[in-house]
Amino acid sequence: MADQGEIEKYMYSALDLARAALAKGEVPVGCVMVYQGQVVAQGHNRVNESKNATVHAEMVAVGQLLEWCMKVGLDKNEVLPIVQLYVTCEPCIMCAGALRLLNIPTVWYGCPNPRFGGCGSVLSVHSDRLESYGQQFKCIGGIFAEPCAALLKQFYGQQNPNAPNPKKKSEGRSTGLGGNLASNFGSAFGGSGDGSEYYAAGYGYTEF
Ligand SMILES: [Zn+2]
Repeated sequence: MADQGEIEKYMYSALDLARAALAKGEVPVGCVMVYQGQVVAQGHNRVNESKNATVHAEMVAVGQLLEWCMKVGLDKNEVLPIVQLYVTCEPCIMCAGALRLLNIPTVWYGCPNPRFGGCGSVLSVHSDRLESYGQQFKCIGGIFAEPCAALLKQFYGQQNPNAPNPKKKSEGRSTGLGGNLASNFGSAFGGSGDGSEYYAAGYGYTEF
């Protein structure tokens, strides 16, 4: 298990990736994957660039990790169960399911994802008793939650220029799954005004 200095160092790296995403007009979420004390894969959200709502930061990093395994000749099935994943926002339900199937043991995240969170906020994909659905994984949130959430609030405050139905703050939540995922996600970060729900985890770590 990583010590606090390492946890903060890697979350800083993930935050840098989230800032890079913001500069490119992407939803600012960043992710790094660490194997034996070394960052071997990283990524940020690329939904707008790819026009593919599934290209989240975690999925970009997973793709890099698999490529890295092939490049250095390591068996992914031996690497994945000891990888540590750091991401600035709680993995969504889709990503949490993928990380569980891949047998990633530990996820450290920044701010909660009150709209789509798959690690305790909406569903608990990481810890539910799901037969034949990978290993449960440990999820620890609240690492630099405020700056992680602030980037998302900044992005959705500017509105996502590529969302087909951008929502203004005053419109509150969008409904259904038919809309743009980023737009729906944004409504969670724009809705209530003071943002207190995103800071609920504060600077203390919360294990789910
Ligand atoms: Zn996701």
